[in-house]
Amino acid sequence: MLILLHVCCAPDATTAVERLREEGYEPILFFSNPNIEPQEEYLKRLEATVKLSNSWNLKLVVEEPDRISWQQQIKGLEDLPEGSIRCSKCIEFRLRSTAAHAKRNGFHVFSSTLTTSPKKNSKIILEIGESVAKEFKIEYLHRDFKKKNGFLRSVILSKELGLYRQNYCGCIYSLRNRAKNGGCEL
Ligand code: SF4
Repeated sequence: MLILLHVCCAPDATTAVERLREEGYEPILFFSNPNIEPQEEYLKRLEATVKLSNSWNLKLVVEEPDRISWQQQIKGLEDLPEGSIRCSKCIEFRLRSTAAHAKRNGFHVFSSTLTTSPKKNSKIILEIGESVAKEFKIEYLHRDFKKKNGFLRSVILSKELGLYRQNYCGCIYSLRNRAKNGGCEL
C-alpha cells in the first residue's frame, strides 16, 4: 500500500522507510520543510534526500518551501526554546501540508519521519498527526521510529549511504541556540 511519508531529513527517513517497507507499505517521500534555514542548509538536506531516494528507489515529491506562511505560523514564538509550542506549530504546519498533498493526490494514509529523532516528543506528534488527519479526513499512521534503537539504526544506515547529517534542528532559532550553547539539536 502506498503511503505519503513526510521527510524531515534523509537520515531520519532511513529507519522510517525500512520499517514501513517491512510492514508492507511503499513510502512516497514528501519533502516539505519551509522551516529549514539558511538556504544552503536547506539544499544540503534536500540533496541528501534525493540521494536516499535514488539509492533506495523511492519516489520523491518536493514541495516549494512557503517560508512566509511558516513564519506567520510561528509568529510571536520565535524566542521560545526547542520543544516548546513553537515546535508544535512548526510540526503542525508540515504535517498539514503533507495531509493536504495526500488528499489532493489520492493517498489514503500519511506518516512522518519526525519520530526518529530522540529530540522529538512522539506523543505530541501523534496528537498533531491525528488532529490534522481528522481535518483532512485521511488516515495518519503513527509509528515511533526511535523505538527499538531506531535512531541508532538511522545513524548506521546514513553512514552506509554517505548521507549528510545536520547538527541542528532546522530553523534559524535552533541554529542560533546551537551557536550559543554549542549543543547538538537534531
Ligand atoms: S526547533 Fe525544529 S521543530 Fe522547533 S521550530 Fe525550529 S525547526 Fe521547527
